[in-house]
Amino acid sequence: MRKPIIAGNWKMNKTPEEAKALVTELKPLVKDANCDVVVCVPAVNFAAVKEAAKGSKIKLGAENVHWAKSGAFTGELSADMLKACGVEYVIIGHSERRQYFGETDKTVNQRVLAAVEAGLKVIMCVGENKEEREAGYTDALVEYQTLIGLNGLTKEQVAKIIIAYEPVWAIGTGLTATDEQANETIGVIRAAVARKYGKGTANKVRIQYGGSMNPKNVKGLMAQPEIDGGLIGGASLKAPDFSQVVNYDK
Ligand code: PEP
Repeated sequence: MRKPIIAGNWKMNKTPEEAKALVTELKPLVKDANCDVVVCVPAVNFAAVKEAAKGSKIKLGAENVHWAKSGAFTGELSADMLKACGVEYVIIGHSERRQYFGETDKTVNQRVLAAVEAGLKVIMCVGENKEEREAGYTDALVEYQTLIGLNGLTKEQVAKIIIAYEPVWAIGTGLTATDEQANETIGVIRAAVARKYGKGTANKVRIQYGGSMNPKNVKGLMAQPEIDGGLIGGASLKAPDFSQVVNYDK
């Protein structure tokens, strides 16, 4: 059995003061959660979130990481820097990074390798855009993104990776993949992992759905056998909404 994992992606939102207030409000609301609970936040909020989340189930995540250990990479953060700030999880290859910041499958892979080596838990994002879905490329594209992203990891390392299947057309748009669409594509991703790394490994990999997941649609999505959790953008910015997603089974 795979333990579900619900992670918030705050994107470029919240000051440290606002972060502290949100986590303080969230803490009691998620205390009985049956899933892993993570908030991935801007680096300026690491200290505030760490402090506010003390003694709770809420784990700290980052939204990106660089592949180099250190050096002339203005504005970037290394895996060791994240670790030193108490970060446990990191999102890699989010579609907004791919779309606006030139992230490629190759750099996603470099970041994944560096994060795993440093002991961070990786949430690696894959997903098709509207044109790719309409052209019938969804399966081929997510298989390719997944296998290139994981390239160079051992079976044991792959088993611990969290993959977020996020159809780009569903992110921040209010459009959601149907429960069946999400389940089917996640099944395609798991089958690709199984072909390369074996069924045993693929059955351990947790694969989240992301794309306008919210308190209203979470139950249906989480009832699907292949869906092991969610990566939540908009609905992670308010404690009542995020806690309802986290407590989807109550
Ligand atoms: C995301 O940013 O990963 C995301 C899924 O956003 P939203 O929930 O707002 O669609």
